[in-house]
Amino acid sequence: MFDVATIRRDFPILQRRINGKPLIWLDSAATAQKPRAVIERLVRYYEQENSNIHRGTHTLAEVACDAYDDARDSVAAFLNAASQDEIVFVRGTTEGINLLAAIFSESLLRPGDEIVLTEAEHHANIVPWQFAAKKSGAVIRVAPVDDNGDLILDAYQRLLGPRTRVVSITHISNALGTVMPIQEMTRMAKQVGATVVIDGAQGAPHRRVDVQAIGCDFYVFSGHKLFGPCGIGAVYGRHELWQQMPPWQGGGSMVQQVTFEGSTFAIPPKRFEAGTPAVASAAGLGAAIDYLNSIGFEAIERYETDLLAYALEEIRKVNRLRIIGMPRERGGVISFVLDGIPDMQVAKLLDAQGIAVRAGTHCAQPILARFGLQSSVRPSFAFYNTREEVDVLVEMLRRISAQR
Ligand code: PMP
Repeated sequence: MFDVATIRRDFPILQRRINGKPLIWLDSAATAQKPRAVIERLVRYYEQENSNIHRGTHTLAEVACDAYDDARDSVAAFLNAASQDEIVFVRGTTEGINLLAAIFSESLLRPGDEIVLTEAEHHANIVPWQFAAKKSGAVIRVAPVDDNGDLILDAYQRLLGPRTRVVSITHISNALGTVMPIQEMTRMAKQVGATVVIDGAQGAPHRRVDVQAIGCDFYVFSGHKLFGPCGIGAVYGRHELWQQMPPWQGGGSMVQQVTFEGSTFAIPPKRFEAGTPAVASAAGLGAAIDYLNSIGFEAIERYETDLLAYALEEIRKVNRLRIIGMPRERGGVISFVLDGIPDMQVAKLLDAQGIAVRAGTHCAQPILARFGLQSSVRPSFAFYNTREEVDVLVEMLRRISAQR
């Protein structure tokens, strides 16, 4: 049974007060809070296991190596990857997409090739492709969304063709909450032979991800949004693709043989992990995944779906409040503006009551511009939030709206 009161006790920060009020954390899309299991894993790593990972050198090196390998196993199982060799650790989604875009700009993209994105992308899934386009002579094409914030599938289909080399799309929009039909979009992209990248920064925390069922080539996510530590994330990639890809960053660990004349490179995933990795953070991410598994992802999804529906229903009732985007399927976030009150002011007034929401561009300027906006207010939800917290938020929004 999913018992939110019990779950909340697993998150120490949720017990603290902000400005004299109990913290109401509605900013999980920016970063999620960490359960004690993750915090304790970091402490245990640094108190008992810390070493660089040079297997065979000494006992602690073995222990740290095992911790890192176990984390890779956990991520592989979490995404239903075929093997742990398909998981490359990175700092987060931003670094993961930069890695792919940089490699593709040299090894895959040619002048006139097309990179297809959607209008709802985070800057992290736009700017790296602009760099890649500039470097390779490829061009970016953008699939539009409708007034609800849903992808216009026909328009997307029309963009796909023999020149489409890469399709890179968000699983869930961080600004609108739209859950993209990634399986269908992947199937369509595969029909034209494109390489498909999914930005799972918002997807992985809210939907059970099965990369084999989706059929994508790459899936990228951030540990810190998945209740794990900062500084760790992962790129899933199909094994045969990683094998064909040249390295990205050069340095220790990613090589086989180095001379001043040239170097040969390790097999994946090590080929893509130059330097000392974030071992403790990887172990912490593994602990976050174990924690999620112990609750059960299906139970989490069910609880969140119900909570989000309740929040949407209640927030919509506030006078002079306009919800941005009403997608068919929503995950994690609700974006809105309050007529005549600057978004930042709304966030500050909420903060005074202990309620943390994000106000701003959400690093997704193009999709806000699509709705005629430069910013919005964005409460975002996780399975540790409650209906009571929604009620406090709505009551405050009513007061702010009435004060205008
Ligand atoms: N993509 C999406 C959809 C996001 O929401 C975010 C984080 N806001 C990112 C990419 C970038 O993630 P990170 O900052 O963890 O690299």
